[in-house]
Amino acid sequence: MVSMVSELGTLDLARLTATADIQHDSSLFGRFPSEIRNMIYAECWAVSGLKQHIFSREGRLAHSPCVLAPGEVDTRNGEIHRMCRQGRRRSRPHSLPVENKWASRFSSAWQEHWGCEEEMSIHSVRTQKCPRTLFLPMLLACKRAYLEAFYSLYTSISFVFTNLQTAHHCFVIHPAPWVKLLRSLAFSFAVPYEALHQHRFYSTPSQYPGHWAELSTSLSNLARFASVQAVSIRLDLSDGRQWSEVRERWILCAIRGILARRLVVQLPEVTHIDGLRCYQYLKGDKTPFRLERYPRLQWINTEDGRVEPRVEPADLVSLDRGQLSQARLRKATRGICGLVAGIKST
Ligand SMILES: [Zn+2]
Repeated sequence: MVSMVSELGTLDLARLTATADIQHDSSLFGRFPSEIRNMIYAECWAVSGLKQHIFSREGRLAHSPCVLAPGEVDTRNGEIHRMCRQGRRRSRPHSLPVENKWASRFSSAWQEHWGCEEEMSIHSVRTQKCPRTLFLPMLLACKRAYLEAFYSLYTSISFVFTNLQTAHHCFVIHPAPWVKLLRSLAFSFAVPYEALHQHRFYSTPSQYPGHWAELSTSLSNLARFASVQAVSIRLDLSDGRQWSEVRERWILCAIRGILARRLVVQLPEVTHIDGLRCYQYLKGDKTPFRLERYPRLQWINTEDGRVEPRVEPADLVSLDRGQLSQARLRKATRGICGLVAGIKST
């Protein structure tokens, strides 16, 4: 699969500029001023999708349009309530059987972009390629078109990352030439608790701070020295721990300066725990960035065709002793199953 983001970022721009034909006789370059050509390029990008997911597939970077509209809320919580009502359940059930489609939605690694993942999967099954767009046809038309369209493309497109490793590869390990042109970026990560706190738990300079801390620093540098103007970061945990345990001020401490002024951070709604309140952003606190809270996914996929409620501190208060012990038993069972599966695979 030829990918726009992996192949074109490696070309030698200086050599292309030196060898490109001016093409005064062509209609595009000879008759139209650059303003008109830029409008043509912009239309090509718009019909191809101005927001593109960047993800890794078979070891190479690939892209797929983002179909999540601005401000669109995640409908998965609402859908579960609808299923419960259809099943005429008055109380919150311990678990609920769901069809495969919904089971995969509740375990999607693309988080609230699960609809974008479905679109990508449907297209991939049909064609085994990235969705057809005008990105490559315009860039590969000729050297001069490439040089003009390259700048127009990467300053127009908003890239969306839902995998920390992929984002770390693009911005820290092997930053491509187009990284410095990007103006709009969106990240939505669900990562283990340790991955977010690693730089604070192991603070000696000789120890690796972790992908998250390195990415935060790299984004801060991009906002300061490059063209990044708008960034959104949405965070969640992937390891079953509760968000109330997260030390929000620690995990976002690397984000300062210009990036903070251009940044929207989305964190789960949280019931604060007394001992950890000082580490978290409370309602009314001043923050260097714009902070938004979103309702966390209330159900999780148990991988046996059922979903079950995520237990948060607020829920623990309302559960009776029997329900509480059952919730803890299910959590312990999942942990043991994961441990056994890990031992078998080694
Ligand atoms: Zn999306």
